[in-house]
Amino acid sequence: MSQSAGCFDFLRGRRSLNKKGEVSASAESKQPLRHHGGGEVPADPRFLSSCDFGIADENQLCPLLDPLPVYSQYDTVTALDPVVIRTVEIGLDSLDRSLRKLSLTIHDHPETQFEERFAHDTLTAFMTLHGFEVTKHYLGLETAWKAEFTQGKGGRVVGVNAEMDALPGIGHACGHNLVAISGVGVALAIKAALQVHNIPGKVILLGTPGEEGGGGKAILIELGGYKEMDFCLMSHPAPMPPRTVALGTSLAKQDITVKYLGHTAHAGLAPWEGKNALDAAFLAYANVSALRQQMKPNQRVHGIMEGKNWVPNIIPDNAKLRFITRAATRDDVSELRTRVRACFDAAALATGCRHHITLEHAYDELVQNSVLGRIFASFFRERCEGNVISQQFGASTDFGNVTYELPALHPVFGIPTKPGGGNHTKQFAQSARTEEAHEATMLVTKGLALTGVKVIMDDGLFKEIKEGFSKRV
Ligand SMILES: [Zn+2]
Ligand SMILES: [Zn+2]
Repeated sequence: MSQSAGCFDFLRGRRSLNKKGEVSASAESKQPLRHHGGGEVPADPRFLSSCDFGIADENQLCPLLDPLPVYSQYDTVTALDPVVIRTVEIGLDSLDRSLRKLSLTIHDHPETQFEERFAHDTLTAFMTLHGFEVTKHYLGLETAWKAEFTQGKGGRVVGVNAEMDALPGIGHACGHNLVAISGVGVALAIKAALQVHNIPGKVILLGTPGEEGGGGKAILIELGGYKEMDFCLMSHPAPMPPRTVALGTSLAKQDITVKYLGHTAHAGLAPWEGKNALDAAFLAYANVSALRQQMKPNQRVHGIMEGKNWVPNIIPDNAKLRFITRAATRDDVSELRTRVRACFDAAALATGCRHHITLEHAYDELVQNSVLGRIFASFFRERCEGNVISQQFGASTDFGNVTYELPALHPVFGIPTKPGGGNHTKQFAQSARTEEAHEATMLVTKGLALTGVKVIMDDGLFKEIKEGFSKRV
């Protein structure tokens, strides 16, 4: 499997709140989904150039944006039995140090996509120890796993995701050690509530490999890994002020690889006999650079060049470009991909090289379930003293594909970072192992666990969640 950048490496602010401060509702009204064709760019996008989320206070967070939303109107949805809330909170408090240890252990053993063997073994052992029924190498994926717990008969099934992969050379620079322990914490806290209060239901924690490229969740969806779940939850860290969570969307993306095949020749003696694959790659790169001027502000094309046996006195007969295209929706990505493909085709034509284009699993944009978002926002504000904003992300995640399959929520939570030390930097890897980042992870974990228990217990809310899902996807 190839290595490629996948997720929260670039933050972008965009105004998308309505007067009530409803995150997803405003997104629905102003930014209709276009996954079945057509549509316009969302109105009035405002982009931030270099907000330093790591050190700004909340009022200086994004001076170009509207005031932060107020969620007090949703207090009533958190009408969960205080005794149940207490069980979740005590459960997480008692797990705090063991989850911290688990996080550091995974951080100390960074593994890239689909190589997460240490994390697979460590996390499955932890879940077994805590009374879950564990399936290793789930659905034939070597580093995927499933941990499940059932209480009583019937009831709803909550899914949770734990990512595990790191980045080549810079370790856990996307903080997936925190994503992993948050998933574990949510599953264990929900189990405690179901068990102690004899609430019928089931919790399934999926260990999902290959998020930084390769589309582990997309593969698990194809294999039926999400079929049993009624709804699904996960979280991800990014540079934002502490106690801040964003419920915006992300960009859809598609990885494209093009290989150019030419003909070697002596570069001095008979260069006219060669077909220069390196030239093809450079022309393709330049074509894409020219294309960028005509791209929409929320579109991205970026990539790298590779080659074998390149030396100056041989005309190179091979070159490979690995690119990623990103846009607001999966339909927009499809259009952008067509334009990028033309850049690649033109380079082959100009140099006389043959070329082969391959596409990897596409990542869909996040379609956050608005009702789940509302419930989570209430708990996060009331029980975690946190703020919830509508930040949009210029990055992508294969959890977007999950949000097209079933009602799902993916809050992005703030951890303290250094200036210029956002996701996919060495500095972020350091930030992802601080005690402060751990505290932030435990807060979002608490909010998600309470959300999970609430939705398992509340038929009316679940009906609303499903209706919201049907309308949007
Ligand atoms: Zn990432
Ligand atoms: Zn990530």
